Amino acid sequence: MSILNIAVVGAGTMGNGIAQVFAMHGFDVKLADVSEPALHKGLAAIRNSLARMAKKGSIAEADIAGILARIHPTTLLAELADRDLVVEAATENPAIKESIFRELGSVVRPDAILATNTSSISLTRIAAWVPQPERVVGMHFMNPVPLMQLVEIIRAIQTADHTYQKVFELAVALGKTPVTVKDGPGFVSNRILMPMINEAAFALFENLATAEDIDTVMKLGMNHPIGPLALADLIGLDTCLSIMDILHTEFRDSKYRACPLLVQLVAAGQLGRKSGKGFYHYD
Ligand code: NAD
Repeated sequence: MSILNIAVVGAGTMGNGIAQVFAMHGFDVKLADVSEPALHKGLAAIRNSLARMAKKGSIAEADIAGILARIHPTTLLAELADRDLVVEAATENPAIKESIFRELGSVVRPDAILATNTSSISLTRIAAWVPQPERVVGMHFMNPVPLMQLVEIIRAIQTADHTYQKVFELAVALGKTPVTVKDGPGFVSNRILMPMINEAAFALFENLATAEDIDTVMKLGMNHPIGPLALADLIGLDTCLSIMDILHTEFRDSKYRACPLLVQLVAAGQLGRKSGKGFYHYD
């Protein structure tokens, strides 16, 4: 089976970027979300991103209509039955992902590959939610998807070699650089990144410095292109908190406890860029 028809589940920060990149590389993409407004917002984000890319000269203006025509929005997972590959990129919540995978397991063809963009949930646990677990694999894109080079490919204990091989080759076909990682909480990327972001939140919580100055220390002192607090706002503070909670639960180690400030900002709905306010304010 060659992969031609793709579905992306979740049209948020990551899902719309993943759909865009597949459509830019000629794939037919169904973009599914439970929320109609989220689908509209996701499609608007894709249009804006393509317009910015055309302005910079990285794609031709004339190609935009064709790329958009390859993306078909839907609110029904039942419409994904004809897909060769589904990339799940819904909210980082195990209960939500379980309900999606249980439904996908009964809807899509048994030979279709089921990938997930989860940042931290065990791939082995996710694979156990579908009848053919050997077709489940992690395809962890980075944010913003059209610009970032890395895709972590995560193998569950159950993942078949041919499943892994196909998504590895697909990532290369998308112009990305895949890195193979064994299943483990946070994989490699978030095992390292999230405790750093959480520690930056503690530095702010303890008034060691302002948010701007904490970020400046990491940018000018450690040569990071973006500070950890600005990066947390870009990722989404709810997503950061979920990942910390998963690291904490899975490792049973208090070094992964979420900073109370992060918990409070999420409780207040201050989720970062996507809500207009997080560690920083956005227009
Ligand atoms: P988001 O909050 O921006 O978007 C999540 C979307 O999922 C929303 O549009 C929501 O309506 C939709 N959704 C919720 N329940 C659904 C369901 N049952 N069916 C279909 N759609 C549903 O989240 P995000 O930042 O795009 O994260 C998505 C996934 O990508 C998560 O697993 C996250 O951990 C992972 N991820 C995020 C980043 C990042 O920087 N934000 C980076 C890498 C991976």
